[in-house]
Amino acid sequence: MGLLDIVPTGVITGDNVKKLFDYAQEHKFAIPAINCTSSSTVNAALEAARDQKTPLIIQFSNGGAAFYAGKGIANKNQQASILGSIAGAYHVRAVAKHYGIPVVLHSDHCARELLPWLDGMLAADEAYFKEHGEPLFSSHMIDLSADPKDENIAITKKYFERCAPMKLWLEMEIGITGGEEDGVDNEAADKEALYTPSEDVYEVYEALAPVAPYFSIAAAFGNVHGVYKPGNVVLRPELLEQHQKFVKEKINSKKDHPLYLVFHGGSGSTTDEITTAVGYGVVKMNVDTDTQYAYLTGVRDFILENKDRLMQQVGDLSKGPEDSTPNKKFYDPRTWIRNGEKTMYERVQQANSNLGNVNQL
Ligand SMILES: [Zn+2]
Repeated sequence: MGLLDIVPTGVITGDNVKKLFDYAQEHKFAIPAINCTSSSTVNAALEAARDQKTPLIIQFSNGGAAFYAGKGIANKNQQASILGSIAGAYHVRAVAKHYGIPVVLHSDHCARELLPWLDGMLAADEAYFKEHGEPLFSSHMIDLSADPKDENIAITKKYFERCAPMKLWLEMEIGITGGEEDGVDNEAADKEALYTPSEDVYEVYEALAPVAPYFSIAAAFGNVHGVYKPGNVVLRPELLEQHQKFVKEKINSKKDHPLYLVFHGGSGSTTDEITTAVGYGVVKMNVDTDTQYAYLTGVRDFILENKDRLMQQVGDLSKGPEDSTPNKKFYDPRTWIRNGEKTMYERVQQANSNLGNVNQL
């Protein structure tokens, strides 16, 4: 039995997301959440997942969503980020089904000062729900990990109560992911805060579980956003197993992994670290930095290889100044952007392979 026996293709929400995550835990794989900033990057990720017969998570960060809407739109009161994430969501909804894979549509980190962005997306979810009986997005992330723990949990719970009637998933973060992402800079964070204690994870569970089962937790285990020199980051994925055991005992769960865990800041991690984390009930791993770089390499190599044709509209400089062949097929964005899509495609497939997310349909 494969995944398509239990969930449909296209954007999935609510219980179908739960079925997907349960299936992933049971079969010991995780799904990469690919940060996308354009229809081009969305399509590259979908194509890669389709060809490997895997489910996919597409996510928009606050800045990525603003870019999707267009840098020409001012982001006053999060207007561009709201518009861009909605535009991206509609794009994904329009095409995902045609790729024949289940897709989870998600929004990434939302820190306290960005809450108007989340409010805007939730309003769009509620409007969509009225019409279609499901929210526009599959899930959102709220990240109040920089705030005091009690406030983090209380505000997260408040938002979760708004999500619950739509069976909208909420991912939250407890403990701090190091490094810098989307303007949130934790480079100077206290090293201890990079490792979340199990008691804190249980506190989150206790607050959210009575509301609904549709939540996941990004607990810090030394993760850092971005790619740094080896040795800079000490990941302790065994902490995730401790959290699972701690919560299992507290709630007397039959499941060995009662928590849906999320792996942030995993760029540059070893395959061993990734496999270990997945074995401890991680269902989602964020991939951003590595696919950004991959997208660049295809474009970069194409430009460098064809420099003699790209410096002017007509003529190949390597053939002398008299050459007059037109270069349209080289400078057409569909040519050079496609090269970025191809290298991003390969990196998405590598992420899938690392996570055991291959041939799951
Ligand atoms: Zn993150």
